[in-house]
Amino acid sequence: MSNLLSAFVKARWRFKHWDQAKIHKFQERQASKIVQYAVANSKFYQSHYNNKNLDDVAQLPLIDKQIMMENFSIFNTAGLTKEECLKFCLRNEETRDFSQKYKNFIIGMSTGTSGNRGLEMVTKKEASLIQTTFISRFPIPLRGRFRLAFILRVFSPGFNVNIGKFQMKYVSPMDTLENIVEKLNQMQPTALSAPSSMLKILAEAKQEGSLKINPNLVVSYAEVLSPDTEQYLQKIFATEILEVYKCTEGMIAQSCKEGRLHINEDLLIVEVVDENENPVPPGTPGHVIVTDLVKRTTPIIRYRLNDILTLDPEPCPCGSNFRVIKQIQGREDDMYLGQRNGTQQPQFIFGDYIRRAIVSTSDHIREYRAMQENPKKINIELDLMREFQTAEEESIFLSELPTKITQLFERHDCESPEVNIVFKSITHDFNLKLRRIFRNFKKSDYF
Ligand SMILES: [Zn+2]
Repeated sequence: MSNLLSAFVKARWRFKHWDQAKIHKFQERQASKIVQYAVANSKFYQSHYNNKNLDDVAQLPLIDKQIMMENFSIFNTAGLTKEECLKFCLRNEETRDFSQKYKNFIIGMSTGTSGNRGLEMVTKKEASLIQTTFISRFPIPLRGRFRLAFILRVFSPGFNVNIGKFQMKYVSPMDTLENIVEKLNQMQPTALSAPSSMLKILAEAKQEGSLKINPNLVVSYAEVLSPDTEQYLQKIFATEILEVYKCTEGMIAQSCKEGRLHINEDLLIVEVVDENENPVPPGTPGHVIVTDLVKRTTPIIRYRLNDILTLDPEPCPCGSNFRVIKQIQGREDDMYLGQRNGTQQPQFIFGDYIRRAIVSTSDHIREYRAMQENPKKINIELDLMREFQTAEEESIFLSELPTKITQLFERHDCESPEVNIVFKSITHDFNLKLRRIFRNFKKSDYF
């Protein structure tokens, strides 16, 4: 049996048959291996865990994206510098060619939700293991070919796959709706995956007749899938809507055949904790800490995400003991609407592009909020890290950010918006959704 096939069978078995005790034992063993490897090969972890008891992984000090990125050159175990990795990723973003490896590593970049760039780096072997596990839990129809169109803003290791009858293809959303629709019509995917806001737009295109595809599987990822959006998508695509919860730090969870979102317990450890890092019981929302059990190139150990999630206290009827996520709070961005040059028609602009324009301006943003008030007006609030709250730092935003947003609208063939920037301190209520990109009007108000 080939390695991949064997990994596939094992991953399936674990998901279906392992009980809590087996899962826990496996996680402890894997986490301990990763910790040992990190301390032996990463200068960052060597000093971060200095004088700490390495056998008690659950008590090791936390890290987050900021810590990882500040120390990236000594954090990764491949001896690569942050600058060379970012340069490589930025060049790929420009050319939109994501097929290249860098010194045998697959590197992806994301802006994430914490306001800074993140880097993801894996070996081909690690990527294969993650993909295989992911695919083994995907409710793929057994007959016929499986063509999955994956629409995501940034390429990420793990989303260009061609294994047997399973194909995944990346479609960039940095395009007009007409072009995306045309690409999908040509490709005729049997499965479609995109953030829920994008799925909603595609469902509208299908309803009015321009999008002519009939996928028998629709997967929503990256954003919260609200019940009314889910119902609408189900109606238009006439199929179940599955969900994948993925971030730069890993493939955290995915839907089973019952449509419940199970944590990939054999790929990562997910801790849900309160403000004081104490675990909260299922049913109570909490912050998320992840430990990746696969990646050694960038060891992710007790890494705090910005998301808030609630575990489901009820077991899933599918029978798997892998824990179920009841709700993900956060990651809920709105889609912006521009006004097309000439025709005055509406054109969507992915909230994530707005986010990227903001965070790529400086690495010193603590928090931000961007509100589109009407198709030609955007108000942005910025909260800079204390030590960077200077007139010089502020002037960088005032000179660069409006231009970036204008260019973004131009690329979508839209009229330029007025961009207002204010600097202020921003606090998020723990119980509120962590929305950073809002649209304060309805499409029908202007179109
Ligand atoms: Zn299930």
